Amino acid sequence: STAADPNAKSSGSIFAMDTYITVTAYGENGDAGISAAKDEISRLEKMWSVTDENSEIYAVDHAGSAEMSISDETAELIEFALDMHERTGGALDISLYPVLCAWGFTTGEYRVPDDDEIAGLLARTGVGKIKLSGNNITLPDGMEIDLGAVAKGCAGDKAAAALKESGVECALLDLGGNIQTVGETKPDGKKWKIGIRDPYGEGSVATLEIGESAVITSGGYERYFEEDGVVYKHILDPKTGRPAESGLVSATAIGKEGRYCDSLSTSLYVLGAEGAEKLWRESEDFDMVLIAEDGSFIITEGIEDSFALTVPAEMKVL
Ligand code: ADP
Ligand code: MG
Ligand code: MG
Repeated sequence: STAADPNAKSSGSIFAMDTYITVTAYGENGDAGISAAKDEISRLEKMWSVTDENSEIYAVDHAGSAEMSISDETAELIEFALDMHERTGGALDISLYPVLCAWGFTTGEYRVPDDDEIAGLLARTGVGKIKLSGNNITLPDGMEIDLGAVAKGCAGDKAAAALKESGVECALLDLGGNIQTVGETKPDGKKWKIGIRDPYGEGSVATLEIGESAVITSGGYERYFEEDGVVYKHILDPKTGRPAESGLVSATAIGKEGRYCDSLSTSLYVLGAEGAEKLWRESEDFDMVLIAEDGSFIITEGIEDSFALTVPAEMKVL
């Protein structure tokens, strides 16, 4: 592609945040925009990785009960996650990391912790015990936080901003289950067409036509293991310390902001159909696509006209 060609299409990929990320930019300044977006994602991964010993989150998690000073961006994201904890009735909980580790979701060395072990680990969780004041944060000894449920969405927002600052008006960011667009349409003037992934396979089960939006999906299929015929998935119910069993196999949140939709997709998955509907009615600022275990769909009225099933299925519109 050349900078002068308004019909140019360029794309670039990186592996970051445990995800293959692809950035596609159309029109002028595409290469510069892609490189700025990739730099931004790498920069944020270095700050927010829970395993990188040089990250801010790692430092916070290994500070004992000492007060730590963190960057504005990290403080802002943690504050946002604490707010979402409130709004979701506790479904989004960034203090579950010790429990996730016990299940092996962080290392791939999977195991099923027994009830006593889970009870002991849950005693170390509870975001109400986090003290955050400006740039200063203090965790109680034994608590560890992880931004895995929101970091990719926030990185998508900041990568989109970097694309725009580079003069890109039209781009698509694909961060695994997270799609974020720049521009209300593709270069051909048509809306972006996004697939909703088949929770049990590789293809898609529905399509959605969107403007400049975030379409973010959480599903148990991304990271899971099987033991004695039982499937254990990587999204935990903070109340039980066990993989969420809410009757959903996939939850997609559609809205303007990546970090909001990322926090929502995880939360909707934990809440299940009823809780998700309640949150949607209270919030009135996002749309959603839920897929239940029986293969049926629940979607919200805001996307009814832009949503199409590509497989035969029952569908209810809220
Ligand atoms: P993914 O990161 O696979 O796209 P999500 O955005 O749904 O999926 O986030 C799931 C990740 O968030 C888990 O891998 C784990 O790090 C963390 N997590 C699991 N359960 C919760 C929860 N209830 N609240 C907040 N974070 C969670
Ligand atoms: Mg996700
Ligand atoms: Mg999420």
